[in-house]
Amino acid sequence: MPSSRISDEHLRQYSDLAEDWMQQYLRVDTTNPPGNEMRGVEFFKKILDDEGIENRVFEIAPGRGDLWARIPHTTAESKRPIILLNHMDVVTSDASHWKVPPFSGELRDGYIWGRGAQDMKDEGLAQLVVMVMLKREKVALDRDVIFLAVADEEAEGRGTDWFTKNQRDLLGNAEFLINEGGENLLENGKVKYVGVDVGEKTSYWLHVVAHGRPGHGSRPNPDSAPNRLVHALNKILAYKTPLRVLPVVDEFLRDMAPYEPPERTLYYRNVKKAIEDKSFQQEVERDESLNFLLRDTISLTMLGGSEQTNVIPPEAWANLDLRILPGGDPKAVLETLRRVVNDPDVTIEPIEPEFREANYSSTDNSLFAAIRETSAKYFPGTPVVPHITSGYTENQRYRPLGIVAYGFNPYTATEEEGSTEHGNDERIRVEEVRRGPRVLFDVVVKVAGQ
Ligand SMILES: [Zn+2]
Repeated sequence: MPSSRISDEHLRQYSDLAEDWMQQYLRVDTTNPPGNEMRGVEFFKKILDDEGIENRVFEIAPGRGDLWARIPHTTAESKRPIILLNHMDVVTSDASHWKVPPFSGELRDGYIWGRGAQDMKDEGLAQLVVMVMLKREKVALDRDVIFLAVADEEAEGRGTDWFTKNQRDLLGNAEFLINEGGENLLENGKVKYVGVDVGEKTSYWLHVVAHGRPGHGSRPNPDSAPNRLVHALNKILAYKTPLRVLPVVDEFLRDMAPYEPPERTLYYRNVKKAIEDKSFQQEVERDESLNFLLRDTISLTMLGGSEQTNVIPPEAWANLDLRILPGGDPKAVLETLRRVVNDPDVTIEPIEPEFREANYSSTDNSLFAAIRETSAKYFPGTPVVPHITSGYTENQRYRPLGIVAYGFNPYTATEEEGSTEHGNDERIRVEEVRRGPRVLFDVVVKVAGQ
């Protein structure tokens, strides 16, 4: 039963609950570090208990925890579960730069304000309201719907690591997972696209060290460590990683082609051919949001040398943030950079010995179809497109378990609203809070409803 079959009175009640609970949830301070996600667990548990929804709490470290809840299937036979995943922790905030205190949950100017209003207490809240709607409306289900709230996503992902290691059975061999990510960009009052994150890049960080003869700053030495480092970094910055078109990126660009200026439309219709074209290559380099989709990227982020201006140090260093496309080979990239630098006095080593290979889910399944159909109802005429995000999400850690994992956001946001994520004045429009749970409910019911 889609939400259109729920009475208007009930729908209004769910929107009222969402608005009220969103404010309450934003008042729960789960800044990570230190996290204190047990506060979030308590917030969810109280509501789930009141609603009679089965749930379990796991304190994985003092003050830190995961919460699991489930609405069971109602049919004799069942399909594999769908998981609604959210993280309860939020990044730090500096109240002196905010218009309202970051944990006030204040309602002002048509917005609810607070750290986590975009990342991702809003989505966690929508998932909670969906559980309540399924329960109260007694929706017939042919698969379990699992709600999983985890700790520490903004740091090391300990909540997810602990859960997948110690409570794997509670994931019930799930088929689908909906998590944060995804972007439904609102431009001039219209949703430009519904972007579903089907994959992410993974980070691969490198430490570059140049060695040279130390000395006094008053007697320059061309082979000094800082000079060597600068030469090496110049070569790295001038180097262009090869362009590569993943099938999902091809699909995304073809879907977006009709909405682009004429020249872009032509390129996007056949991007595999376009990447051979010099002027398109230059366009890619100028366009950050296109560039990261088509290649492994390299950002120079940290630099260090002498502690004193008049001392030439024996070592100078830099850190590089590399982001590797799914299927990319970090070792090959590393070897290439060493060749590019070609200096025996400059070493390049990975900062973390372990590399998590990037992955992605395909789009030929009933979850993607459900998102497409639901979007057509709420945002008619808007393309629904698979997207690779430049950022990281925990979907990376669930796909190896055989789960189709997407970033899907039931809310829309303007560029400006979206950019408050991790920034100042994080906030969400009240009308989005009121509608979002209904959008997610319709997706879940299409996948799990009987
Ligand atoms: Zn997040």
